Amino acid sequence: MTTNTITHYINGQPAAGDSGRAQDVFNPATGAVTGRVALASRADVDRAVAAAQAAFPAWADTPPIRRARVLFKFLELLNAHKDELAEAITREHGKVFTDAQGEVARGIDIVEFACGIPQLLKGDYTEQVSGGIDNWTVRQPLGVVAGITPFNFPAMVPMWMFPIALATGNTFILKPSPIDPSASLLIADLLARAGLPDGVFNVVQGDKESVEALIAHPDVQALSFVGSTPIANRIYEGGARHGKRVQALGGAKNHMVVMPDANLDKAVDALIGAAYGSAGERCMAISVAVLVGEVADKLVPRLAERARALKVKNGLELDAEMGPIVTAQAHQRITGYIDTGVAEGAELVVDGRDFDATTTGEGCAEGFWMGGTLFDHVTPEMTIYREEIFGPVLACVRVPDVATAIELINAHEFGNGVSCFTESGSVAREFGRRIQVGMVGINVPIPVPMAWHGFGGWKRSLFGDTHAYGEEGVRFYTKQKSIMQRWSDSIHAGAEFAMPTHK
Ligand code: NAD
Repeated sequence: MTTNTITHYINGQPAAGDSGRAQDVFNPATGAVTGRVALASRADVDRAVAAAQAAFPAWADTPPIRRARVLFKFLELLNAHKDELAEAITREHGKVFTDAQGEVARGIDIVEFACGIPQLLKGDYTEQVSGGIDNWTVRQPLGVVAGITPFNFPAMVPMWMFPIALATGNTFILKPSPIDPSASLLIADLLARAGLPDGVFNVVQGDKESVEALIAHPDVQALSFVGSTPIANRIYEGGARHGKRVQALGGAKNHMVVMPDANLDKAVDALIGAAYGSAGERCMAISVAVLVGEVADKLVPRLAERARALKVKNGLELDAEMGPIVTAQAHQRITGYIDTGVAEGAELVVDGRDFDATTTGEGCAEGFWMGGTLFDHVTPEMTIYREEIFGPVLACVRVPDVATAIELINAHEFGNGVSCFTESGSVAREFGRRIQVGMVGINVPIPVPMAWHGFGGWKRSLFGDTHAYGEEGVRFYTKQKSIMQRWSDSIHAGAEFAMPTHK
């Protein structure tokens, strides 16, 4: 068995850290420990911040086109190593290899967007706002910024953040999830090989201690967080208390409405992929099917048949459709939710707890396995409707009409993603206008916006004012400065005591 040690990465070097604390990293498909990840102390965080702070002035002064050239080189290296990165993700997260490839591809989109930074930083200019005076706006980097990321997208979510933070002239500290930390070091290595100066991108591995150190550190100017809602809320409040700019993306409960006029074959495909893909461990997974009118009686038997037939196996096998659950603790939490669903009276149509792990692949008997679960007749009071399960559990709720569907969704505390399957343009239009959710799909089950549109939910799915990436990302990682200028031949003699106006 390997005892791979997963370290921090500070000032262009792997760094062991001095906390003496570490945690096991597992391959969820086999249940085996594959490494130990260091957990940073406050002093480790201080060292990373000091390196980033020292690197900031020169990086901020580097012309945007030269920063972009480093990102173009990084893009080339990422493309050359994308399967290596995807394999590292599958080994520690468990998601199937093709899904991990998709995750890396969506991260690459953001790097491509960030390569256009000279255009994005152009600013604006007004000539002659008053006699002989011009006024323009520039956007300047913040300084040292940090990204705290979840286990479920160990490459893509960091890539929502650092390409834009670096392109805009900031230096960056990534604090990945300790559950699947290896992708962060592969990324750090590719950035160094692309020519990024030492200290511009750093990784601190860790848990709550390192996050609290980042929140309190006076030299960290901004925090980007993606993870569960209670922690997002805490980071937002803590960051604000320390005067930082914060964007904190939280949990979700994403609904997919199926109207009676929808193409049911496509709706079934969409629900199966979006509920059970990545074992439901996606913030944009569909966990509630809202079945309108007579749709439920037609759809539930078809969903049940497909959920039972899912190919659940080691994600490195190319025909796998769903991999294992990420950790033994998450497996236990999801099992607990299924127990609660049964106890509260939902109809358990397919029970993922019954799953036979002998079919998952060689050496996988001790992995964290579970099949897809399907509930029908779920009601809004039930725990499995209200709370985020973050596993392969789909809850069907029956409603009489689209107005009730919209009311139901709008009453939920989360507002990350939503989808509506219909063939009616007017239902689609009305749904898009009325729904209180940040990302909406019409006949698209997982409407993750493209790199230049920005990602973010509403309500308790996002704390802060800006969405991740896209132009919102550029705004988050820069501060606006207005410069007003005139030269001596247009300056009037004598002091002016009245508020200046345009003359
Ligand atoms: P998590 O909240 O447990 O962890 C996220 C990050 O916070 C990790 O880096 C973790 O080490 C750190 N952390 C955990 N506990 C902490 C504490 N007490 N104090 C300070 N930091 C702490 O989330 P997770 O389980 O890694 O990821 C799954 C969650 O992330 C789900 O709720 C999912 O919906 C959400 N998510 C949201 C989005 C989005 O865009 N809205 C995207 C991906 C995941």
